[in-house]
Amino acid sequence: MKKFQIASIPADGIGPEVISAGIEVLDAVCARSGGAELNFTHFDWGSDYYKAHGEMMPQDGLDTLKDFDAIYFGAVGAEDVPDHITLWGLRLPICQGFDQYANVRPTKIIPGIDSPLRNAGVGDLDWVIVRENSEGEYSGHGGRAHKGMPEEVGTEVAIFTRVGVTRIMRYAFQLAQSRPRKLLTVVTKSNAQRHGMVMWDEIAEEVSAEFPDVTWDKMLVDAMTVRMTLQPETLDTIVATNLHADILSDLAGALAGSLGVASTANIDPERRFPSMFEPIHGSAFDITGKGIANPVATFWTGAQMLEHLDLAEEAQILTSAVEQVCADGIMTPDVGGNATTAEVTAAVINAIRGANR
Ligand code: NAD
Ligand code: MN
Repeated sequence: MKKFQIASIPADGIGPEVISAGIEVLDAVCARSGGAELNFTHFDWGSDYYKAHGEMMPQDGLDTLKDFDAIYFGAVGAEDVPDHITLWGLRLPICQGFDQYANVRPTKIIPGIDSPLRNAGVGDLDWVIVRENSEGEYSGHGGRAHKGMPEEVGTEVAIFTRVGVTRIMRYAFQLAQSRPRKLLTVVTKSNAQRHGMVMWDEIAEEVSAEFPDVTWDKMLVDAMTVRMTLQPETLDTIVATNLHADILSDLAGALAGSLGVASTANIDPERRFPSMFEPIHGSAFDITGKGIANPVATFWTGAQMLEHLDLAEEAQILTSAVEQVCADGIMTPDVGGNATTAEVTAAVINAIRGANR
């Protein structure tokens, strides 16, 4: 029996609702497979903690987290605390402090959920977007001079390092190689941006030599939006910069059907630190406490966590159960159903118990 220690940080809004549903489902998966045990330790960090203590998590928060095998994260954001405090106080320090440089965002059309694309059905859109998560356009470099004056200047400098680009490229090629189609698309804007983006293209070329069995191509980011919309079936694994992948993954989520089903993993591929698994959506105060939050994104990121822990069979049991329940039409209102969070969760647990192994 493999045992893992998981830190759970449900945080704000619907975070606690979807994370507790996720833990029930993960426990059911482990009970079904009999091959693993996940022990959850709960942390009450977030906006309520901030209101009581003046900080989103304790000073030694990262120290507390660093020995866990993974982090299961809900969402941050409260109506009465500014967003830059909640984001920079909890989520970003974990991503940056643990050098989670690969942000991995799988997207596919789940049976039962309609894509807004007229001609796309199940199987036509099955992508993983790999977002560089540590540098690029969000490096924080830049500044303002002559504030408020007519001659005011603002700069926002994108930083691309050979180390940073090589490691994300290698991660993306490896991921593409592990998927059946072995197909990678490298996104840049190397026609207009002729320094860092040209370096991306060159490093992609160099790294590709290590992966002769992976077919790859290059796209400019603007043309990429057209290809995602009109030829979704020609794409599989996608790698792009922090900014480009941020935008493309929102488009991907919308094309696949809903924010309530989109998940993400913040990975330290070298496994020096715990990686963090979360739904893409925020704290959704408009539906908090109503019992109708869609737990599917949180289940999906739970499956990513199982895969990261080398529990492939367990991940498979979970994703199959979620697909079966959506196909049966047991879904929350955001994706056109009328089930509650608890009903979807119970249905997924039922499907897990009945899963063939
Ligand atoms: P949001 O993702 O919280 O909600 C956007 C819309 O989608 C809302 O109408 C919400 O009801 C709906 N929605 C989101 N998740 C859902 C789910 N699981 N089931 C059903 N419906 C769902 O984004 P927002 O409203 O822009 O932001 C609310 C707060 O969340 C803000 O404070 C924001 O900063 C924060 N936020 C945090 C994260 C994060 O923690 N990673 C991400 C995005 C936003
Ligand atoms: Mn974004």
